[in-house]
Amino acid sequence: MSCLPNEQKESARIMAIMITDECINCGACEPECPNNAIYEGGMDWSVNDGTSVRGMFTLEGNNDVDAEARQEPVSDEFYYIVPDKCTECVGFHEEPQCAAVCPVDCCVDDPEREESEEVLLARKDAVHL
Ligand code: SF4
Ligand code: SF4
Repeated sequence: MSCLPNEQKESARIMAIMITDECINCGACEPECPNNAIYEGGMDWSVNDGTSVRGMFTLEGNNDVDAEARQEPVSDEFYYIVPDKCTECVGFHEEPQCAAVCPVDCCVDDPEREESEEVLLARKDAVHL
C-alpha cells in the first residue's frame, strides 16, 4: 500500500497549483506534467495514469482507492489538476511546468492549499515507486 505521511512538517510553505476558469482548453500543459496530474475537463482520472502506483492508494482525507479505479472529473469545463497527483513539480523541475507553458497564466497558486516541500517530496515518492 502506498500512503502519504500524516504529519505535515513545518518548513517553507508552498501553495498548490490550480487551474482557473480563464483556461482556454488549449491542452499545452497536459503533456508537460511529470505526474500526469492534468486532465481535460470532463475526463475521469486515476492514480495510476502515468504513474507506477498499483494496488490501493490513500488519497488526501485518508480515502483509500484502487489506483486503477476511475475517479470523477474535478472540472467538466476546463482542464484541471488532481491535487493528489500534483507535486508542484518538486523533485523534477525548478518551477511548475504547467504554469510555465500556459499561454493565459491560469495555472496559479491555490490560496486554500498550502503544502510543505516535505509533503510534496513524499507525494512524488508515493506516485513514482
Ligand atoms: Fe503537474 Fe507540475 Fe503542474 Fe503539478 S505543478 S500539475 S506536477 S506540471
Ligand atoms: Fe488551460 Fe493553460 Fe492548460 Fe491551456 S495551458 S489547457 S489554457 S491551463
